[in-house]
Amino acid sequence: MAQTQKECIFCRVLAGEIPGEILHRDDHCFVIRDIAPIAPVHLLVIPLQHYIHATDASPDMDVTLGHLMAVAREMAKREGIFESGYRMAVNQGPHSGQTVDHLHLHVVGGRALELEG
Ligand code: 5GP
Ligand code: ZN
Repeated sequence: MAQTQKECIFCRVLAGEIPGEILHRDDHCFVIRDIAPIAPVHLLVIPLQHYIHATDASPDMDVTLGHLMAVAREMAKREGIFESGYRMAVNQGPHSGQTVDHLHLHVVGGRALELEG
């Protein structure tokens, strides 16, 4: 079941109600480390606005997605994984394993990754 904005973990981190170091913040998104990293670097790039899916009908969604990827690139440089490479992933809906219903871009690197199902 979709979480409401009030109980959304990422909105609560942004509001300072749940601890989480904000590594980057701008007018459109913020970045935190995943609480359960699957690799040495595992960041979440999260729009300030509580979109649920990347396919949410919104006139600025394409801009938002592009911005998340641009911020991911800059964070990858900051984290020292730009040259070695990294994965950007968005989970969407039940079969993807999406657990937080607030759009977020995973940025994962620092080790060689397998293609995982
Ligand atoms: P999803 O499975 O929805 O694509 O990814 C949600 C991610 O959020 C998971 O990788 C999970 O470890 C992470 N996560 C869940 N709760 C918290 C939290 O309170 N703080 C942080 N930093 N990450 C969280
Ligand atoms: Zn939210």
